[in-house]
Amino acid sequence: MSNDKKLAPETIAAQALGWIEPTTRAISPPIHVSSTYERDEDGQYRSGRNYSRTDNPSYDQPEAVLAALEGGKAALLFSSGMAAATTLFQTLKPGDHIIGPKVMYWSLRNWLVATAEKWGAGLDLVDMRDLSAVKAAIKPGRTKLIWAETPANPLWHVTDIAAAAEIAHAAGARFAVDSTAATPVLTKPLALGADIVMHSATKYLNGHSDVIAGALVTREADAFWEQIKLLRLQQGGVLGPFEAWLLLRGMRTLYPRVRMAVANAQFLAEKLAGNSRLEEVLYPGLPDFSGHAVAARQMHGGFGGMLSIRVKGGEAAAVRLAAHVKVWKRATSLGGVESLMEHRASVEGPNSPIPKDLLRLSVGVEDRGDLLADLEQALQAN
Ligand SMILES: *Cc1c(COP(=O)(O)O)cnc(C)c1O
Repeated sequence: MSNDKKLAPETIAAQALGWIEPTTRAISPPIHVSSTYERDEDGQYRSGRNYSRTDNPSYDQPEAVLAALEGGKAALLFSSGMAAATTLFQTLKPGDHIIGPKVMYWSLRNWLVATAEKWGAGLDLVDMRDLSAVKAAIKPGRTKLIWAETPANPLWHVTDIAAAAEIAHAAGARFAVDSTAATPVLTKPLALGADIVMHSATKYLNGHSDVIAGALVTREADAFWEQIKLLRLQQGGVLGPFEAWLLLRGMRTLYPRVRMAVANAQFLAEKLAGNSRLEEVLYPGLPDFSGHAVAARQMHGGFGGMLSIRVKGGEAAAVRLAAHVKVWKRATSLGGVESLMEHRASVEGPNSPIPKDLLRLSVGVEDRGDLLADLEQALQAN
């Protein structure tokens, strides 16, 4: 456990910071299922543990590994990505003002719109690709949190993290980034100036479509972070110990999984880009994509494992294409080792800004030839 600062993130992830269980020397940690801990005779808790809604020894490693990978001071696990994100927003007070992106993870957008109204918090959803729109939305003295998601679901809009963080800080606001799609493998929002990074750990961090989990990572272990910790304890959106263990196991292979998904996604985007049955291929790794230049600056080692395709012939043609795939699975979610395809507009409903001809593709780690052949036969059959 010495010298971790000098170790590469690949090593930190694979060895989970090199921790060994001290009593048995086990390399894989035990799962701590106890909900409660015995007091000392004088009533103290010298173990530092009292109840598993506060925290759990099974969180220690995954939280430390994630904080190390993001370059943060600390991380907190939550029962889902939504629990992580909504806990952060619950630090705000009535009258505070939030700026978020128009295109973002749909459930969180819906929660924000409904909750801001209920709380009397101001909310402006802007095109985060346009920094002048972000600036114009600032309400001096009231804007407390700017939220970005990059690349953003499911159009993969790219936000310039460093520039947006600067705007937020000049206004006295915090800047938080949903980095679920980018992962710490490709983007380090804290190093670019973000205050908080959020992950749906359900996705790439776990990577095997068998855990629902979320996380926040902070640049500073300050009073604001203590407030978030207290909210997790009070609201109880805590992760189960088995899920924390699975998440740590998943994170050990984060780097090879993400790198393979990224290489597959870049390959597929390039192969599909000229297809006459497609209207458009949306992927930050394509040179003519609107956010490509910013993505190339702030993403390292690739442009993510997520892309979207717009199918000629509208909604019916898109839904029909999804019906024809055999290797790809028609399912929601993303970031697992298996490739998934989803018609987003039917999931998001009538108020969605997402084109009806769009299919979202989460590219897995399968053989790229199999993935392409399946898409090509589905496009042919369409
Ligand atoms: C899935 C997802 C969420 C929500 O996470 P859950 O773990 O499903 O609660 C938030 N943001 C993004 C970008 C996501 O993909």
